[in-house]
Amino acid sequence: MPKASKGRPVLLSDEMQQGKQAQQEQCTSCAAGTLSRDRVSTALWRGDDLVVIEDIPALVCTRCGERYFEDETAMALDLMRAGKGAEGSPARTLSVPVYAYAPQGRGREEQT
Ligand SMILES: [Zn+2]
Repeated sequence: MPKASKGRPVLLSDEMQQGKQAQQEQCTSCAAGTLSRDRVSTALWRGDDLVVIEDIPALVCTRCGERYFEDETAMALDLMRAGKGAEGSPARTLSVPVYAYAPQGRGREEQT
């Protein structure tokens, strides 16, 4: 099963079908927050290209910010990662700064 980039897909539909209120889902990451519906964006790599998908329906923990996608959404994102549904002209383009990894807190060994 393909893994969602951020947040594990969570099975919500079963519980909704059982008539449970979906609004008060508990966060399984911090076990303290509740999840509220929100729209999020995520970035994913397609080969060498970084693609940003925005306006994704998600459940976001009100406490730790962990994001959960419903199965349907996670599948759609996987398809978009594979290039389906994200062809043609993008809604907009961003220019993204790229940095080389630079560990902090330890002085670089300088040559003197
Ligand atoms: Zn949480």
